Amino acid sequence: MIDCHVHLIALPDSSNGCYVSPRMLRRLFVRILAWIRGFDLSNPAAANFAYLDLLFRELDRSRKVKRLVLLAMDGVYDPSGGLDISKTDFLLSNDYVLQVARYAPGSFLAGVSINPQRRDALAELDRCAEQGAVLVKILPNAQCFDPFDPRYRPFYKALARHGIPLLSHTGYEFSLIGKDQSAGEPARLRTALEEGVTVIAAHACSYGLGFPEPNFKTFQEMALRYPNFYADTSALTLPNRVRTLFLLRRHPDLHDRLIFGTDYPLPVLSYPALGSGYRKIARVVSPFDRQALVLESLGIQCRDFSSLKKLN
Ligand SMILES: [Zn+2]
Repeated sequence: MIDCHVHLIALPDSSNGCYVSPRMLRRLFVRILAWIRGFDLSNPAAANFAYLDLLFRELDRSRKVKRLVLLAMDGVYDPSGGLDISKTDFLLSNDYVLQVARYAPGSFLAGVSINPQRRDALAELDRCAEQGAVLVKILPNAQCFDPFDPRYRPFYKALARHGIPLLSHTGYEFSLIGKDQSAGEPARLRTALEEGVTVIAAHACSYGLGFPEPNFKTFQEMALRYPNFYADTSALTLPNRVRTLFLLRRHPDLHDRLIFGTDYPLPVLSYPALGSGYRKIARVVSPFDRQALVLESLGIQCRDFSSLKKLN
């Protein structure tokens, strides 16, 4: 299987084109995460290599997942389409993702990120498609644009022409500094769907604030209306999104629209499998396998990313 939602993480070095804002680096959770994983924030090259090494080891110990779609993260753009670095917390460059995927094509696939607001969005899409990108990831809440905006139709048309799926974050966004959360509403993906893009709503459209779950009805309606609408299973074992996992269990009609993904390095928890092998799943070391086993134990089938996109 392929995990369609894995974050590539890198600190800026002299050549990788990445950026992390000083305020992001100061944040406590970033420091704690680095400390837990044993990454040295003062040595970018070593930390970046250590993260790649960790991904290889995670793949090695997984029985179910053999390839990862690694996601880039574009920044915030000003009204004239130029990068606004003062509003960008974190930028993981397309060049770095493409380079890593080229280095180990049997393990990694490039999920680039293009903010459609950027002046050169179409040219960047052509360039990334030519270099083998299999997916475009957007995070409208943090990238500060409204995916519903009809001005992005040419960008969506080009995505459809290239046959590259669009993976969009949906729901509330915690991990980056708070922006307009309404940009994460799944209904705002309609413009891309109308242009024929294969759209994957991350986290199965879940709102991300626990109970209740206002977006599930939208997921059902959009799945009925658009045959090109899919959703990934990433982050669904986290307490703030688990309600959607239990709703999906009761709606096998939607399983055909689910694509396997985890949101690694976010944790995959085994408690949703309670009563059906929870203890056994908790002992499984690979987070990818844990995610697959939790889904299986709940009777939730999902598709592999390769059913949406022809891969080499
Ligand atoms: Zn994610």
